[in-house]
Amino acid sequence: MATKRDYYDVLGVDKSADEAELKKAYRKVAKQYHPDMNPGDNEAEAKFKEASEAYEVLSDATKRSQYDQFGHSAFEAGGAGGYSGGFNYSGGDFGDIFGDIFGDIFGGGRTRRQASNGPMKGASLRINIRLKFEEAVFGVERDITLPSKDTCPTCNGSGAKQGTHPETCTRCEGKGQIVYNQQTLFGTVRNVQECPTCSGTGKVIKEKCSACTGSGYVKKDKNLKINIPAGINQGQEIRLAGMGEPGKNNGPRGDLLVKISVDSNPIFQLKPGTQTNTKLRLRDKGVPYIGNSSTRGEHIVTLIVDVPTKLSDEQKEALKHFAELSEEKVTSGESTKKPGFFGKKK
Ligand SMILES: [Zn+2]
Ligand SMILES: [Zn+2]
Repeated sequence: MATKRDYYDVLGVDKSADEAELKKAYRKVAKQYHPDMNPGDNEAEAKFKEASEAYEVLSDATKRSQYDQFGHSAFEAGGAGGYSGGFNYSGGDFGDIFGDIFGDIFGGGRTRRQASNGPMKGASLRINIRLKFEEAVFGVERDITLPSKDTCPTCNGSGAKQGTHPETCTRCEGKGQIVYNQQTLFGTVRNVQECPTCSGTGKVIKEKCSACTGSGYVKKDKNLKINIPAGINQGQEIRLAGMGEPGKNNGPRGDLLVKISVDSNPIFQLKPGTQTNTKLRLRDKGVPYIGNSSTRGEHIVTLIVDVPTKLSDEQKEALKHFAELSEEKVTSGESTKKPGFFGKKK
């Protein structure tokens, strides 16, 4: 058997490394040499196995102390662990850390895991604000009351009764996930499932906090002033960072998303058939009188109908059809024939 490298050297950590440092170091090495990232590379696979073995021993307090005392001989044939026959990294208790690695490599998985028992950003809140046309054009400040949640002051968000603490879930051992292997045509597939006992939190509350009935949150309305900038458009969204729901496990608060809808201005909805150069008189919408700013003059709007200059064949065809229909109406009902939309044809 080849000489084995020191487990601490394999992971590149000090002998005094704590659990978090070990995990971090293992993640780094495992990511680098993972067989999925290095297909067909035997050396990478060997390094991956070596790191996995080192991590499995050092992350287990009992095995670590055996290793510290006796070195590799503690686990050699006939020894306590019996690893000499090779190390099977597909089994074992690697559920959460593999979730991390796969999540990092393939995306998705990690956020789900973080969602279970790591710090997690709170949910975003969404509200709609309806503006008058003028408010959207010139900007406006709105006072709103937001039905919001705060961390429960009685239990500090733990959800457990005063004097008690949430306990580590025994079903998933606090991981929030249950890992099981499934045999398929393509080999063994690792499945990760959210723990149904603790709903992925890794903790179980035996006695609930009476103030928040175990949720960890209390409802609290918040009064906010929202500055809506001038020129905002229908459908635009304003994001107010940190104004959403509180995070979990000391995660940051979510955001508040304010969706804007703008009332259309009746002035700009015109009668069908309005001709070019039509003048509209808008009473009280003009310039204020000097010395009496509450009274305004008239605002005269001249409408210019913009006639399209470039038409596609399809559009021309549609207009010809329109002209024909108009002429037909004129000729059938009246004795004098007026030129149609295109003038006289032929
Ligand atoms: Zn509470
Ligand atoms: Zn659980």
